[in-house]
Amino acid sequence: MIITKTREEIELMRESALIVSKTLGMLASEVKPGVTTLHLDKLAEEFIRDHGAIPGFLGLYDFPNTLCMSPNAQVVHGIPNDTPLEEGDIISIDCGAIKNDFYGDHAYTFPVGEVSEDVARLLRITKESLYVGIAEFKVGNRVGDVGYAIQKFTEDAGYGVVRELVGHGIGRKMHEDPEMPNYGRRGRGKKFVEGMVVAMEPMTNMGTHRIKQLRDGWTILTADGKPSAHFEHDVAIIDGKPEILSTFKYIYQALGIESDEEDAFRQELLAV
Ligand code: MG
Ligand code: MG
Repeated sequence: MIITKTREEIELMRESALIVSKTLGMLASEVKPGVTTLHLDKLAEEFIRDHGAIPGFLGLYDFPNTLCMSPNAQVVHGIPNDTPLEEGDIISIDCGAIKNDFYGDHAYTFPVGEVSEDVARLLRITKESLYVGIAEFKVGNRVGDVGYAIQKFTEDAGYGVVRELVGHGIGRKMHEDPEMPNYGRRGRGKKFVEGMVVAMEPMTNMGTHRIKQLRDGWTILTADGKPSAHFEHDVAIIDGKPEILSTFKYIYQALGIESDEEDAFRQELLAV
C-alpha cells in the first residue's frame, strides 16, 4: 500500500533528507586515501546525533553501522571496516537518518583522490541516470516509466543495471511501497500520485549486471569484480511533479565543485 504524505509531512521529510545531505557533505572532505570506512562511520553517527536525529540504518534489520560503505566492486550494503581507502578507489556512501519520525535516505559515490577516466565516466553516467529517472516520477506516469528510462540510459552507455536491489517508497518506515526498480517497461506497474515520496537509487555496474553476496549476509558485489556506482535522492511528488528533497550541494561545496545540476533540473521541469 502506498502511503501518500501531506505537504506538512513532506516538509518534515525534507528536514530528514537534508540531515543526510549535510552528513554526506561533512564526509566529502574526509574521504581521502588512508582513511578507514569505520572512521567515517563514527564521524557520521556523531554528526547525525549532534543534529538532533537518529542514524537510520543502525540496527535496522540488524545492520551494525550508521553508513553502508561500498567500495569499488561492492554495489551496496557494505559494512564499514578498518581497511584504509586507497587512491583511485571509489566509495559509495549510503546514509539514513530519522528526524520527526521520518526517514531520510540517500547516497553518493565518491572518488578517492584521482580515479581512472573509465571510472569517472561510470560515476557521471550513474548520477545522470538518477535525474533521468526522477524526471519520469510525476503524476500520470507509472513505476515502469522510471525503470525504463533509467535502464535505457544506462544500457545505452554500455553498463549493467542491477536487478536484485531497487529503490523504494520512504516515510515513517525506511522501506515503503512501491518498489522502484531501475529497469522496467513503459506503462507498467503502480501509478504515481500526488504526495508520494520515494528514494530513487540507480545501482550501475561497469560490467555485468549480475551480483553476488558476501558471507557476511550484507555486502553485495558485482559478479565480475568490476566497479559499481550508486547515487540516491529522496523525491516527492508536489503539484504533480518531482521535487528533490535531498541535495548534493553540501558535497559540492565541500569539494569546491561548481554545479547547478539540481537547479538546472528544476528549470527543465518547469519548462515542460
Ligand atoms: Mg540508501
Ligand atoms: Mg534507499
